[in-house]
Amino acid sequence: MNLLSIVVPCFNEEETVEIFSKEINKTLNEHNFEIIFINDGSGDNTLNNIKKLADENSNIKYISFSRNFGKESAIYAGLKNATGDLVCVMDVDLQHPPSLLPEMIESVSNEDYDVAAARRTSRKGEPKIKSFFSHMFYKVFKRITKMDLVEGATDYRVMTRQVVDSILQLKEYNRFSKGLFQWVGFNTKWICYENVERVAGQTTWSYWGLIKYSIEGLVAFSTMPLTISILLGTIFSIVAFIYMIVIVIRYLLYSDPVQGFATIMCSLLLLGGIQLLSIGALGKYLEKTYIETKNRPIFIIKESNIDQN
Ligand code: UDP
Ligand code: MG
Repeated sequence: MNLLSIVVPCFNEEETVEIFSKEINKTLNEHNFEIIFINDGSGDNTLNNIKKLADENSNIKYISFSRNFGKESAIYAGLKNATGDLVCVMDVDLQHPPSLLPEMIESVSNEDYDVAAARRTSRKGEPKIKSFFSHMFYKVFKRITKMDLVEGATDYRVMTRQVVDSILQLKEYNRFSKGLFQWVGFNTKWICYENVERVAGQTTWSYWGLIKYSIEGLVAFSTMPLTISILLGTIFSIVAFIYMIVIVIRYLLYSDPVQGFATIMCSLLLLGGIQLLSIGALGKYLEKTYIETKNRPIFIIKESNIDQN
């Protein structure tokens, strides 16, 4: 039977790792699988709990980072160390229902799909404002990047070896997984499910974190903001030029001296704002380029029970 590697990023998840492993064992008891826990610099007992599980089960592997590198880096490390013919990426808090696994495995093994991914159809139990912004993000992202990012798409997915190898070829430091998964293409089957709440522990996402994540995503997959700067610049130059001619004509024909402190202030502020915004957008791309050129590793492993050579 094909080996399934389950990649599980964990950050301060001491309460959930054991529940997770039990659930997976229950769901996949007959399947040949391994779990790769990535301890993403947790400050609690996560690593010890994982090690305990690994001592009891030979199919539990772990990688422990030297600090918190973020979920995206954890996913990358997991994919890199996965040996299965099929690889699954999954959250440890059981918000990604293990009950979908059999169908996902079936779809990639016996149907004509390379990826089976989960999609949340409801956002039950989530603040309304969060759902609203999330909806807006998908709309803007789709419009700007022309990439067909499926709304409610999660990182929860089962992929064939071929897809995993393609993702591993994308070695960028700024990793926006949702976009990367979409970017590599392949035949994807979407499996819908209702939102579930965490079994234990707390989410580490803040609103600020989500806003930053959205900007990262946009910058990573589109240079549209730069084009918008050029467009705005062009429009305002043309308008200013026309206005200049109007003023001159008015002065020559009617000797009408121009007045209007308000007009000056408004246009000054508006233009200043647009200029700063454009410089900001430019700076964002420069920042990303700067970080990419340093070519730093995406993660650093402190310890692991997988041979790293
Ligand atoms: N996670 C991680 N590193 C981080 C933050 C989160 O590995 O810096 C893991 C976390 O342990 C969980 C998954 O990513 O398995 C999703 O995190 P969380 O449940 O906090 O996010 P949400 O489900 O609220 O989007
Ligand atoms: Mg969660």
